[in-house]
Amino acid sequence: MWSPLDHLERFVMLKKGTETPFTGKYNLHFEKGVYRCKQCHKPLFESDSKFDSQDGWPAFDEVIPGSVLEQKIPANEQTEVSCINCKGHLGYVKNGTTFTQKNTHYSVNSAALDFVAN
Ligand SMILES: [Zn+2]
Repeated sequence: MWSPLDHLERFVMLKKGTETPFTGKYNLHFEKGVYRCKQCHKPLFESDSKFDSQDGWPAFDEVIPGSVLEQKIPANEQTEVSCINCKGHLGYVKNGTTFTQKNTHYSVNSAALDFVAN
């Protein structure tokens, strides 16, 4: 069953908004577990793929295969990432970054995630 979303979660997930950097609860959160879609609970990211991008949003270098949609936005040359199940907006992905060896940076709003510890 889908979770009801609060005001910020609706702004992010349904209106494709972005939370204020350094305010999200998962920005500097490094426990072992799985990050799931806040709305429909689909597992999206393993904690092993999380890194500190120092830009104020949770960052991952890999998704759980088949869990997200990636869609290029011609207007601003960004690639939007959303949940494949409920289509809720999660954030953006950039390739060619050098934070980790995968050279991929999923920048995700904390408001679009929940977390289940292993
Ligand atoms: Zn979802």
